Amino acid sequence: MRVGSGIDVHAFGPGDSLVLGGVRIPHSRGLIAHSDGDVLLHALVDALLGAAGLGDIGLHFPDGDPRWRNADSRQFVTTTMEMLARRSWRVVNVDLTLLAQQPRLAPWREQIRHSVATLLAVTVADVNVKATTTEHLGFLGRNEGLAAMATVLIDRA
Ligand code: MG
Repeated sequence: MRVGSGIDVHAFGPGDSLVLGGVRIPHSRGLIAHSDGDVLLHALVDALLGAAGLGDIGLHFPDGDPRWRNADSRQFVTTTMEMLARRSWRVVNVDLTLLAQQPRLAPWREQIRHSVATLLAVTVADVNVKATTTEHLGFLGRNEGLAAMATVLIDRA
């Protein structure tokens, strides 16, 4: 068994929705990103790659690459899962944390768990999604963007 961790940050920008964990959420702002800016899935990809010893998201999905422009980040997870499967790794469980003053995650939590569970070929019980504010401190507290952290455990398939 091996463990991996990931972290990601994106700044808010113009827009009317966010994508979190593969789920589109209406919001007063969007995220500035080369892809869809899904911080939860970007942190997850880094955790998966970290657990498998395969580097990071920037190595496999460089944000200068036109292929990933406005990309659906579920594609990054699917491609990463294929890399892990080729090396006989499967996911045991994942723990995701969104750090944000806004939006509130609670109304979307179950939908995100289902979305992530499907991507990772695990049960919903193996996907935990939680959120915290930063008590109005720092760039997150000032509502300038979102951050996410992911921890994942993998094992031999
Ligand atoms: Mg990112």
